[in-house]
Amino acid sequence: MTNNIFCCDSLSTALDNAGNSGFSVLVAMNTFNKTFFFVQQYRTRDKNDKTGILTIGEVGIKFCPWCGCDLERVINDNFELAKDNYEKNKEFLFEF
Ligand SMILES: [Zn+2]
Repeated sequence: MTNNIFCCDSLSTALDNAGNSGFSVLVAMNTFNKTFFFVQQYRTRDKNDKTGILTIGEVGIKFCPWCGCDLERVINDNFELAKDNYEKNKEFLFEF
C-alpha cells in the first residue's frame, strides 16, 4: 500500500474528500497529452445524497493551496500515486 502524501497532510485530506460536500482536490487528466493535473472542487452534496440540486464548481490549480509547492513537479515525482488517485476520483470530475 502506498501512502497518500503528495506534498502535505492538508492536500491528502482534500484528496480524501473527493465526492463529498465542501472543498476537495481531485486528480484530473488532460485528454490531449494524457498528463495529470490537480483541480479544486466544491460540491453541495455528498456522493450518496440524491436529494435536492447538486451544484459543483471546479478550477485547475498549479500550486498547493496549503503549502505552496509546485503541483506539476509533485505529480512528476509521484506519477503512480497520481494515477491511482485519478482512477479513484475520476467519477466525481466535472465533465466539460
Ligand atoms: Zn501541499
